Amino acid sequence: MSEPTLSIRTLVGVFGGTFNPVHYGHLRSALELVERLQLEQLRLMPSAQPPHREAPACSAEHRAAMVELAVQGEPRLACDMRELQRHGSSYTIDSLIELRSELGAGTGLCMVLGCDAVLDITTWHRWQELLDWAHIVVIARPGWELPGEGEVAQWLKGHRVENPHGLRGRPAGCIAIEELRPLAISSTEIRDILAAGRSARYLLPQSVLDYIQTNTLYR
Ligand code: ATP
Repeated sequence: MSEPTLSIRTLVGVFGGTFNPVHYGHLRSALELVERLQLEQLRLMPSAQPPHREAPACSAEHRAAMVELAVQGEPRLACDMRELQRHGSSYTIDSLIELRSELGAGTGLCMVLGCDAVLDITTWHRWQELLDWAHIVVIARPGWELPGEGEVAQWLKGHRVENPHGLRGRPAGCIAIEELRPLAISSTEIRDILAAGRSARYLLPQSVLDYIQTNTLYR
């Protein structure tokens, strides 16, 4: 197959999540993707009230404040607060449409998803339109496998590019699957550790742990 025409000069990524709290699994994956895909920036975008999950006990403002602390000092990572500022239900598709209109025509948009999010994708609002607005970059996550058959498998197969250079041929519409360093850390486990009064040190940045302590979160 011939090399795609490289019409996209700049790639920007967006990594949505609950980030309850943000941890080194998120942050290390984010940084590795920045370097692997040569993203200009990757924005961690905390969800306000996820439509497809129970509302997290920790407020969106606290979760976003922790993301802001976690990315301090790393200019290639940023916190995108748009979902917190929106009234009513917040859908990923709305964020992608907004981001797409803010970025110039020469900039591609990559939405980063973990495998667990991909398995759920058909429950997302207007999921089949996501690729109209962004590329999707799937990160392989420890303990998760992508489906081999069915609707999601067909969707992945139909849009997949083997080489991340393929993402620079157009501003949206392709799926890349990236295997990154596996770090078996989850927010659930961190919340459990803290609730049990044990130490979560070295699983997440110390600045985030200090914030948790100051604001007596996850007790
Ligand atoms: P929870 O345990 O509360 O479900 P989580 O640790 O999975 O939280 P989320 O905020 O739900 O974190 O995740 C946001 C995104 O980050 C998801 O797409 C998820 O797949 C991905 N992700 C979470 N943990 C890791 C990890 N250790 N390595 C790579 N990706 C991760």
